[in-house]
Amino acid sequence: MNSREAHIPVAAIEAASLREDCLDAVRDLCIEVDRQIASHAPRCRNRGLCCRFGQFGHRLYVTTLEASYYLAVHGPPPRIAEDVCPHAFDGRCHAREARPFGCRIFYCDPEASAWQGPLTESCLARLRDLHTELDVPYVYADWMAVLDMLGTLRTKPDRL
Ligand code: SF4
Repeated sequence: MNSREAHIPVAAIEAASLREDCLDAVRDLCIEVDRQIASHAPRCRNRGLCCRFGQFGHRLYVTTLEASYYLAVHGPPPRIAEDVCPHAFDGRCHAREARPFGCRIFYCDPEASAWQGPLTESCLARLRDLHTELDVPYVYADWMAVLDMLGTLRTKPDRL
């Protein structure tokens, strides 16, 4: 475990992933955010290059509830070999159903820059409120570090 992974609350993420109220709340927010994104009709131009974080030169951060929703839907991820999301291959995302909000909102399409910032801010505000309402510890952590930590659950005895 390195320093950027040390503060990631894997037990809290796993506990929330087993709660229907948490999953319903994130799913509802996904539906609302996806509806807003669709209204802008953004275009994906780089076919997953932005999911190759080291190469693309940016980072993506997620909250506890986003990670728990991802874990509930997709299960523990495969091990990460480099600074690339393990779900990014063949030019597309293979974890679309429960991908984090940053993944949903980010488009390199220059025309998206006008609405991305405000939508990100409103989404994060709603997520912060949801953590309080659902009594889930809030963390905002690097997506690759979170995936790395969730990958350790693959070897837990009750998941084998
Ligand atoms: S979850 Fe999907 S969109 Fe998000 S970084 Fe991974 S491949 Fe890209």
